[in-house]
Amino acid sequence: MKLQVPRAYNFNAGPSALPLSVLEKAQAELIDFRGTGMSVMELSHRSRTYEEVHNQAINSLKDLLSIPDSYEILFLQGGASLQFSMIPMNFLKSGKKAGYVMTGSWSEKAFSEAKLFGDVFHAASTKDGNYRGIPKVDHLKYDVDDAYLHLTSNNTIYGTQWKDFPDSGDVPLIADMSSDILSKPIDVNKFSLIYAGAQKNLGPSGVTVVIIRKDLLEQANTSIPTMLKYSTHAKNNSLYNTPPTFGIYMLGEVLNWVRELGGLTAISQRNEQKAKFIYDAIDSSNDFYAGHAEKDCRSLMNITFNLKTAELEKKFLEQAKQEGFVGVNGHRSIGGCRVSSYNAVPLEACQAFSEFMIDFQTKNS
Ligand code: PMP
Repeated sequence: MKLQVPRAYNFNAGPSALPLSVLEKAQAELIDFRGTGMSVMELSHRSRTYEEVHNQAINSLKDLLSIPDSYEILFLQGGASLQFSMIPMNFLKSGKKAGYVMTGSWSEKAFSEAKLFGDVFHAASTKDGNYRGIPKVDHLKYDVDDAYLHLTSNNTIYGTQWKDFPDSGDVPLIADMSSDILSKPIDVNKFSLIYAGAQKNLGPSGVTVVIIRKDLLEQANTSIPTMLKYSTHAKNNSLYNTPPTFGIYMLGEVLNWVRELGGLTAISQRNEQKAKFIYDAIDSSNDFYAGHAEKDCRSLMNITFNLKTAELEKKFLEQAKQEGFVGVNGHRSIGGCRVSSYNAVPLEACQAFSEFMIDFQTKNS
């Protein structure tokens, strides 16, 4: 099954595939955006036309994720990685400690960064099992007066995903949702802060979305640089300084596309179908392909697996590349194979890849 030429079968882990219709709309509007005689990139961020784009993106996100009025939606820069520092800077108070659930490399990075600012601990870890799993929500260890509890909802490198989230009571729950935000409906009310770099499900790199509960904002440390305070951006509708205007425009268009597809329930059904193509090829392979994640916490966004020998894996990856499948190599830190099937990856791409997997197995067993 072929995609519309010249689009690639793009399984990149991020930046990753964007919806074709969004790219076409951006292309059509590039030279003259809504009669302004300029592109969105050339508009003043203080202009009314840009402000409409900005507010429309905020409102669409609010609608799609059913975000209550008690939250602020912020568009920041510095990627999810800057959030690793901003969170402890703002919310890790002296005398308090923060719990981190360790489920992969991104949790480790978030933890190391927080350690620079205060007292942190592992609320649970699946490192001993080579990050194949996610801890059970009732196995997390933390105290009622902790500053916050941090988790990574989808582990982009290891290919695991939380299926349900803890109810952390009065302890603010903070989630790095960089690689699965908007892939399914979630109950935002469980979280005090959600953050995500845009470059997987939301749009191009350069925008970081933060959804933060207003009462948490009020408790933040004050003696930190202006740009690193969430309150600065909240007070200024993310227009304290020049925001990444083109990225925010693209985000708004991606959100429109999600809505047109039927919203998060429809997109999550589509994501399940897509991932099933590939997990089925793994499960019916008689161990020719070995999935990395434990079955009950398999990611629908990043599907990770290995072949029996390094030679066979190399041959598989080379042939995948020749067949036009892009980005199937595992992350440089762990190797193996990884198919990232984010929202904008079409069903046909996953189907074509599963057919390739079955064919490769037939020819090489
Ligand atoms: N968290 C997760 C789960 C990620 O997948 C990534 C990037 N792949 C990051 C954080 C870091 O994001 P950024 O490059 O936007 O800083």
